[in-house]
Amino acid sequence: MPVQSISNSMIIKEKNHSESKSIINREEALDILNGKIQLTEAVHRAYSERTKYFSNKVLIHILDNIKNGHCAEDCGYCAQRKNSNSGVQEYSLKSEDAIFQDAINAKNNGAYRFCMVTAGTGPNDILTGKLAGTIERITKDLGLKVCLSAGLLDKEKAKTLRNAGLDRYNHNLNTSESHYDEICSTHSYKDRLNTLEAVSNAGIGMCSGIIIGMGETIDDIVEVAFELKRLNVISIPINFFIPVSGHAIKNPGKLTPEFCLRILCMFRLVNPDSEIRIGAGREGHLRSLQSMALFPANSLFASGYLNVKGSDVEQTISLIRDAGFEPEFSGDFKMSGEIPENFLYENKNFPDLYKFKKEISPQ
Ligand code: SF4
Repeated sequence: MPVQSISNSMIIKEKNHSESKSIINREEALDILNGKIQLTEAVHRAYSERTKYFSNKVLIHILDNIKNGHCAEDCGYCAQRKNSNSGVQEYSLKSEDAIFQDAINAKNNGAYRFCMVTAGTGPNDILTGKLAGTIERITKDLGLKVCLSAGLLDKEKAKTLRNAGLDRYNHNLNTSESHYDEICSTHSYKDRLNTLEAVSNAGIGMCSGIIIGMGETIDDIVEVAFELKRLNVISIPINFFIPVSGHAIKNPGKLTPEFCLRILCMFRLVNPDSEIRIGAGREGHLRSLQSMALFPANSLFASGYLNVKGSDVEQTISLIRDAGFEPEFSGDFKMSGEIPENFLYENKNFPDLYKFKKEISPQ
């Protein structure tokens, strides 16, 4: 199996994004979530749309938390929120050289885009300047696309980041407008919309998604899916709430793997040509259905999330290939891309088999 290099396909799709209409209306979206539509039908319809725009490719994203903790906001799902006492490691902004090295590692690990995350309400002018310098260096010297998640932005800061080469900005809606006060009191849903507007007006691609499992109803979930369609969001991470130590979500939902899969299908059918990304919590919530989730979704994270670690790159590549999809790598990816001849008999795949053979061996 040859190594897949980054093609222009994704870039072309991004330029033409918005050409598609939702495949389902609100009532059908609710019926997918409430089980009135069969799971197999939902997966089949979502897969047809997914392959139309993204064939069988899966983009791998790797997050880098470049500034952790010291946050004045109180987002209930986050271990870094003020007064959380979660014991999360706090550090100020990493040096430009350290971030650049992280970007080199991400590229060598196959990342198509380098995603930088800073904790906090939003960057001040000094931090914006530093971020702009780092973005310029990564895009020019490494040829990586850069996505930044740094909180609330106004239009001037958005323009500065765009001029430095920022390709995409992540700012999740997280939940519906009517449910927003339940998860955060220090900023509003409207503040989030204003940031997305500034990002969009600056010509930066919008990445915005949801966190499922924070006590919302299925109407809230459907509302977010259609709001992201209205905003013409290009990339939609679907996160599943991880009950991190120190969280303040009053009523975490009980998610099943089937329900999580239904959500991914519904988002694909409402936003057919957007990148639908399996975000945080896939390991714990989708569990054995993780590979099925690649039928509606076309991208995922490897190596961890905002506050916790997740499957590593090698495990993620296996997951993708086992389901018959192709990971999309950057051009400098070091792995051969070939499945080794003795793959089936590698000790790590069948540890118990090896134990058994050792025990009965005449030697
Ligand atoms: S999500 Fe971001 S803004 Fe909200 S508490 Fe966590 S670090 Fe702060």
